[in-house]
Amino acid sequence: MPRRNPVAPPTRHACPHQVTEGSRTGERYPPVRERYPELVAELVRLLRDEGEPELAVAVRDVPYHGACDCGDDFCRSIRTAGRPGRGPYGEGHRCVPLRPDQGMLNLDVVHGRIAFIEILDRPPLR
Ligand SMILES: [Zn+2]
Repeated sequence: MPRRNPVAPPTRHACPHQVTEGSRTGERYPPVRERYPELVAELVRLLRDEGEPELAVAVRDVPYHGACDCGDDFCRSIRTAGRPGRGPYGEGHRCVPLRPDQGMLNLDVVHGRIAFIEILDRPPLR
């Protein structure tokens, strides 16, 4: 019986459960789409309406970093990047207001990346 080579060969594929992305803590964030498919479908549609096809593609893969913790009853906002810290985002930031049928939806985009989805005056997300 041949002995197993004690040196493991380099593996070609990484286990998807071990993938870490963009986080110092090594935490992995699921896409917002997995949690709120209807919201993301709506955002895609609204972004196309606004003439933002690149963001309409990007929003499908934004990571869910957690709910906004401002504590306001009417706020259902979602963080999709690390915390900006207190105060404004600064250079490279722009706000993209959308026109949903209900309430308010705005995206905070920092250097082309969606950092925050502002969701106000809307029913709880499903
Ligand atoms: Zn909030």
